[in-house]
Parts: sequence; structure tokens; C-alpha cells
Amino acid sequence: ALGSKLQGVFDRLRGRGALSEADVNDALREVRVALLEADVALPVVKDITAKVRERAVGQEVIRSIQPGQMVVKIVHDALVDALGGKDAAKGIDLAAASPVPILMVGLQGSGKTTTSGKIALRLRGRERKKVLLASLDVHRPAAQLQLETLARQAEVTSLPIIAGQTPLQIAQRAMETARGELYDVVILDTAGRLAIDDALMDEVAAVKAAVKPHETLLVVDAMTGQDAVNTARAFNEKVGVTGIVMTRVDGDARGGAALSMRAVTGAPIKLLGAGEKLDALEDFHPDRIAGRILGMGDIVSLVERAAETIDQAEAEKLAARMQKGQFSLEDYASQLKQIGKMGSLSGMLGMLPGIGKLKSQLEGANLDQTILKKQAAIISSMTVKERRNPDLIKASRKRRIAAGSGSSVQEVNRLLKQFEDMRDMMKRMNKMGQKGLMRGGLA
Ligand code: GDP
Ligand code: MG
Repeated sequence: ALGSKLQGVFDRLRGRGALSEADVNDALREVRVALLEADVALPVVKDITAKVRERAVGQEVIRSIQPGQMVVKIVHDALVDALGGKDAAKGIDLAAASPVPILMVGLQGSGKTTTSGKIALRLRGRERKKVLLASLDVHRPAAQLQLETLARQAEVTSLPIIAGQTPLQIAQRAMETARGELYDVVILDTAGRLAIDDALMDEVAAVKAAVKPHETLLVVDAMTGQDAVNTARAFNEKVGVTGIVMTRVDGDARGGAALSMRAVTGAPIKLLGAGEKLDALEDFHPDRIAGRILGMGDIVSLVERAAETIDQAEAEKLAARMQKGQFSLEDYASQLKQIGKMGSLSGMLGMLPGIGKLKSQLEGANLDQTILKKQAAIISSMTVKERRNPDLIKASRKRRIAAGSGSSVQEVNRLLKQFEDMRDMMKRMNKMGQKGLMRGGLA
């Protein structure tokens, strides 16, 4: 009765049918508008929607979710990927010999000097680095003083100002000072122009060639919208950038420039500037920006919650079969899919009530994705009879299954061993389970 009840829940949640091309096109029309309004460059919008169309058509829709909502979630995931993936929060790379030079480039007013001060504060505070700030901006008289003031606020040193030096001379002096006085990091703040011009690019390129910075950070104002992509392309072609800092995300720009800049330069967005104060520097989280660009955060979390419910139902279904001592290779195969999705076996079983104790045991048994796929292929090469009764699988069957799945007999053996281990573990869990493991959640 328990099993069929769960089966019912499960069937209700899953299988509204597959996304049709019309579903996808309808939803993408709306998505396209949202992306353009968020300042994503048109070629990037086209690229994303094409990818999503390919990914989405035919995908199964969770029952409690509308097809359009499902597409929005797929778009969101594509945006996260395009921004560098879920775990992309990358700070500044300091993995180089000290003193590590960091070159700040960008147009005038983009926030280079402010960001230099913010980074200095962060590196001094959080990473306990000895930081030297140097302004190469000889074009505006107040620029060097501005950096000096920020350095004082950040409680780091700024290179003494010597009138009449060229940017290149200042950069070289900064590096000499840093070597002599054992600084960990040198941040070189360059001059900007209101628009891209060759003189600016040549000046920055000459400094770059002489100093060989470990990071060349392009600072771009998020409010410049569609222009940001041209700026990023020009700086990347003429100077080369290793990372991007997007400033003024405290304004009302939706941040689509991040997506375009990442697409044209391939360089990661490393940090965000979110205010004028020195502590207004944030790590970049692709999922947050993706949500802001798309502006459909409610739908995304709705679909995520529904998907979690399905995972929960599936985990409970597995638990019910385990409890009854029925666990076949068919179950194992259907769980492999789920496990792959969750990232780990312990992740999935972790959702079951009371499983905490077993988690550490399971973590040791974590399987990597390629092995999961291989094992799924091996199981699909078995007959139904073999899946339900693996004891039938002797030498000649093993050879047939191995050939059919493009694997070796050793790999088939390994799978069978793993399955047996798992079944044994489940029997053990079962005994404990009578006293509470399953009860809480299922009885
Ligand atoms: P630079 O010409 O590239 O060196 O730009 P500045 O660092 O001098 O910044 C220009 C102006 O933008 C200053 O008034 C800063 O206070 C302001 N600014 C810089 N970053 C941000 C930010 O993230 N948010 C906001 N609201 N203002 C910023
Ligand atoms: Mg400046």
C-alpha cells in the first residue's frame, strides 16, 4: 500500500509531456524581450535562445509547472552556464611570485580608481596582503591624489608622487619599490579616456609589456549597457584582459552587460562594484546575476521547488523498495540517473529522514559521473530477467553484456559488485530502519 501510494504521488508529479517547439518558441519570445531590456547584446541573445531551443524541445515538463515556466528555468540555467557556471565565483588570482602586479584598465569614469582602492582594502583585510597602490594617471592632475586618499582610507601604502614621470616610469618605479620593500601585491591604476582611442591603448599596452601583470582587470560600468560590449572587445583585442569588474551594480541596470562581456572576451567576471564606499565590493555569483538579467526569479524558484519535490518523491520511492528488501538492477539503473542529477549518492539519500549516520559511509561510495553513465549503459545491455535476477549473470552473459555496452568484463564485474554492496548495505539499513530510519518520513 505504501509503495502504490508513493507511486501515485510520483506519477502525479512527473510527466506532463514533452516541451513542443511551439511551447518553446512562445516562451522564448518573452525571454528575448527580457534579455534585450537587460542590455544583453543582440548576438548574445540570439546565441542563448538558439542554445535553449536545442536544449528545451522534447524535454519533459514537471506536471505542476507550465511549459513556459519550464523554458524560463532552462534559460536561467543557460545564463548561469554562459556566465561561468554555478560555482564560478572567482576572486583575484594571486598565485604568482611576489610582488604580484595587477593592472586596472577601462574607460574614464568606469570606476578604476575606486575599484583599485576596494581591492586593496579587501586584500589587506581578508587576505592579509601587503599592498602597494600606484596611479599611472598623469593626464588628470587630481587623479594621483584621489588614489592617495583612497589608499589612506584602505590603510595601504601608495607610491609617492613624482611630478613629470610617464606612466611607464611610474609603473617601473612601483615594481622596484615593491620588490625592495617586499610587497605582496602592486595595483596599477591607469588613466582612462572617455572613448577608446589608440593613444590610450598604446599607453596601456606599453605598461603591460613592461610589467607583465598577473591580472589585467577591465573595469566596466554596468550602466553603460550595450556599449559595454564594444569596450570589452576593444580592450581585450588591444591589451588582453584576464578578468572583468562590473561596477555600479547598485544602480538599476539589470546587468546584461556581464553576459555580453563574458561572451566576447571569454574572460570571467571576477568582482562587482556595488557602491562608492571602499567596502562595496562583491564576489560575482552567476546565478544571482542570471536571475537579475532574466527578471523572472519567482518562476525559476517555483520550478526548482517542484523539481526538488520530485527528487524527494523519487528518494522516498527508493526508500520504500529498500524497506521491502526489493532492490533490483532496474532500481539501481533508475537511481543512477537521479544520482547523476544530484551530484552524489549521499546528496540524494541525504534527503531521507534520519539518514545522517549513514551519510559518511555513503560518501566513500560516491561515484563519478562517467562511471555512472558507463554503468547505466551496462545495465541497459542486460535482459529484463538479468536485471531482476543478477545471479543469472555468469561468464558468457557477462561477455555479451560487455560487448553490447562497449565495456569490459571487468567493468561488468565491478558494477555487479557495487550493486551487491549496495544491496547488502540496504539490508543493513533496513534492520536499523525498523527503528526509525524510515518510520519518521514514510509510515
Ligand atoms: P575612473 O575614472 O575609472 O578611475 O573612475 P573612478 O574610480 O574615479 O569613479 C568615478 C565615479 O564613480 C566616482 O564618483 C566613484 O565614486 C563612482 N563609483 C565607482 N564605482 C562605483 C560603484 O560600484 N557604484 C557607484 N554607485 N558608484 C561608483
Ligand atoms: Mg581614475
